[in-house]
Amino acid sequence: MKYDELPAWSAKAAAWAADYHATLRERPVRPNVNPGEFLNQIPAEPPQLAEPFDNIFADFVKLVPDSMTHWQHPRFFAYFSSNAAPASMLAEQLANAISAQCMLWQTSPAATELETAMINWLRQALAIPESFRGVIQDTATSSTLAAVLTMREKALNWRGTKEGLAGMPTLRIYASEQTHSSIDKAVRLAGIGQNNLVKVKTNSEWAMCPASLNSAIKADRHKGLVPAGVIGCIGGTSIGASDHLDQILKIARDNKLYSHVDAAWAGSAMICPEFRSIWKGIEMADSIVFNPHKWLGANFDCSIQFLKEPKDQIKTLALKPSYLETLEQDRIDNYSEWCIPLGRRFRALKLWFLIRSYGLTGLQEKIRNHIEWAGQAAEEIGKLDNFSIVTPPMFSLFTFQFSPPGDDPDKKTRELIEAINADGRIYLTQTLHDGKFVIRFTIGQFDTEKSDVDMAISVIQELAESLN
Ligand SMILES: *Cc1c(COP(=O)(O)O)cnc(C)c1O
Repeated sequence: MKYDELPAWSAKAAAWAADYHATLRERPVRPNVNPGEFLNQIPAEPPQLAEPFDNIFADFVKLVPDSMTHWQHPRFFAYFSSNAAPASMLAEQLANAISAQCMLWQTSPAATELETAMINWLRQALAIPESFRGVIQDTATSSTLAAVLTMREKALNWRGTKEGLAGMPTLRIYASEQTHSSIDKAVRLAGIGQNNLVKVKTNSEWAMCPASLNSAIKADRHKGLVPAGVIGCIGGTSIGASDHLDQILKIARDNKLYSHVDAAWAGSAMICPEFRSIWKGIEMADSIVFNPHKWLGANFDCSIQFLKEPKDQIKTLALKPSYLETLEQDRIDNYSEWCIPLGRRFRALKLWFLIRSYGLTGLQEKIRNHIEWAGQAAEEIGKLDNFSIVTPPMFSLFTFQFSPPGDDPDKKTRELIEAINADGRIYLTQTLHDGKFVIRFTIGQFDTEKSDVDMAISVIQELAESLN
């Protein structure tokens, strides 16, 4: 394709996109395909000769959508939604048009400074103190890995990056069992080791038990182990559990431990002042991650890491070989020094478009609706025959079981979710909670309307009856 053909094809792609989104409700949320079915439709060998673009586009239309799970479907109630508001999609198109490498200020001045501005906007939107700065990362997994590496190096006084980890003291990291597996991954990849991730007991509300955190730190010190960091959780992935940050971050601070808060999903809800009581104590965190690519509407990927003292992370991650040195080094931010990858996409643009085109009030309205509808849905499902709510709505996530008398509830709940997802009108996923197989119901898709939630409840009821 030549550049002079781009406008016509872009227009065609945009028209296709509009039609795709307008007709999503007519598609099953999850496609009815078997592994390998799609692969078999793709030639095993690459073409030697150029193909007409008409054929390429036609194959996309014919093959791809029917073999995709539709994350932007208004009846997607699985995992956590990964929204892509149209304003943010359009920004991605423009960022693609420029396709800059945003590693250094001088490779991307506007992208770098727009990133600084967007971090500052979001910091205010989430009521994080002015002293925090931040960076846009690809995913929460990367943000958390960066934070855990900083925890490690701060505890080792930056000897790990120079000498390696052999012969270094054993470090310990503390988090509750409600935290996401990305914490486990970070601890493994940072060379701290899974066995040194202490899963602190939770209380009856699945929040980390502060007294247990305190005694775990003391016991480890007594054994000659070196506590390095505490990871708090706001809106855990399984059931939406949150820690009492004011208590656990204070323990971290009193023990001079680096702290990180994983609010990947629920951080977006902090744009609504009425939900911020759960955020109490956030000013004590050293690092905070939240993903605008989940609930805020920025299309994937876009994860924000706020940092109280960026210099600790920069000291851990930055390398300045002479070919990357820039002359204005002291007056600017080179955001690649805050991150693991060197190359960086222009992600700030979609935040700029998104926040301006909705305004904070427009984004707040989405989140408030989702939380209100989740509360209503939990109430209605709880009233259906043989259904029980296992964990109450936390933000817009709750879990339930289907337990007709005389049957194993785990088995029946599994049968129900299989029936729901084979049916295709809605999409739900499961988790194990307290040893129970439960169905997660979460609302977060921007195009979801109350009628979609109502339909989900009727589908659940209808399919449960068919299983009886
Ligand atoms: C989704 C999620 C993650 C992982 O996010 P990625 O951006 O996909 O790495 C981590 N923690 C929580 C609480 C999440 O909900």
